[in-house]
Amino acid sequence: MDGLQEKRAPDARAKRRFDDVVSVVRALQPGYPVYCLRPKLLTETAKRFISLFPGTVLYAVKCNPRPEVLDAVYRGGIRHFDTASLPEIAQICDTYPDAHAYFMHPVKARAAIRMTHKAYGIRHYVIDHEDELAKVLEETGGKDLTIIVRIKTEDTGDSLYDLASKFGTGPDEAVALLRAANNRDCKTGLAFHIGSQCREPKVYRKALALCGDIIARSGVEIDSLDVGGGFPAYYANTQVPPLEDYMAEIRGGLNDIGLKPTVEVFSEPGRALVAAGCSLLTQVQLRKDDRLYINDGIYGSLSEMTQVDIRMPVRLIRLQGEAAPKLRPFILNGPTCDSLDVLPGTFDLPEDTREGDWIEIDQLGAYSNALATHFNGFYPEAFVEVHDAPPAARS
Ligand SMILES: *Cc1c(COP(=O)(O)O)cnc(C)c1O
Repeated sequence: MDGLQEKRAPDARAKRRFDDVVSVVRALQPGYPVYCLRPKLLTETAKRFISLFPGTVLYAVKCNPRPEVLDAVYRGGIRHFDTASLPEIAQICDTYPDAHAYFMHPVKARAAIRMTHKAYGIRHYVIDHEDELAKVLEETGGKDLTIIVRIKTEDTGDSLYDLASKFGTGPDEAVALLRAANNRDCKTGLAFHIGSQCREPKVYRKALALCGDIIARSGVEIDSLDVGGGFPAYYANTQVPPLEDYMAEIRGGLNDIGLKPTVEVFSEPGRALVAAGCSLLTQVQLRKDDRLYINDGIYGSLSEMTQVDIRMPVRLIRLQGEAAPKLRPFILNGPTCDSLDVLPGTFDLPEDTREGDWIEIDQLGAYSNALATHFNGFYPEAFVEVHDAPPAARS
């Protein structure tokens, strides 16, 4: 555990540790947005995923690269990281000497390939084009490499994002790339990403069948197979099957294609590991009838709600007196001057919600702080740790 970042600033972190979110409000009465991290939940979630997945679990760093989040999943046993840039690789390798980073971006700067290979000892590179294979071979010298070919999977409409539209090759090209890498004495692998927040476990089995076809046609004995991310989180408006169902389909899919036991199986969960491990405390700054103006919005922590149909649970926190038991729908407006800075849909909150009340928005550990901008001078950057159960688990 030598790598843990909290060792460097133990006092600072201890001062930001609270029993629960209400204690945070009492102590800080924050007029700025505060991320409430739940490190124990993050650690437990990582442990659980590792225990269920039949292979090696890589945490997808882009989902939430906060040091406390990385430490928490590390503490849960994560030693492998899906990284996509030189800064991400540097952050992981400089922080955790016993961790392994994998360069999973199919389009890399030559300088980044060179630097990550020489300075950080990276040996796994994803490609989806012959020119990228040539780049990796040229910049690394081609020794001791694992080349992972990213393939396109069918967009079944079961995921909230289609991650095959930008990256990934078709089967014929994948066959050619596997052979080309194999001919250059590289170890080889296949990877796919079925799209984030996938609500249908069978999609993994279908994608594995496609991998089986490609492997058989190529005649190459691959060394690794990467089923990507896409495992769901539990939002207010979605019903998703339990993680066990996804693992069953993956085990079934691996069985179907008769993968050799020596083939290393990877997954790259982001959202499923961290979404539940953080909520956001915002404050109402003005009420106009059914419109609440709060201090975070779509240019800060809440941009994902505008991209796809996900809805986070909310609850009101008031220090003086009780809020009305009856709820009504409110429109939540963000802090910037942009008229687009309004959250889609409505949120049910006590009908007497007023200026100065706090609203805790739950399930915000994934793609929140990682996407926040400084637009208009608003930037959410306060983080505390809490040790209660998250609201979603309470209700
Ligand atoms: C973003 C990303 C992930 C993480 O996806 P989740 O849906 O958050 O699990 C994993 N792998 C790759 C290649 C990605 O781009």
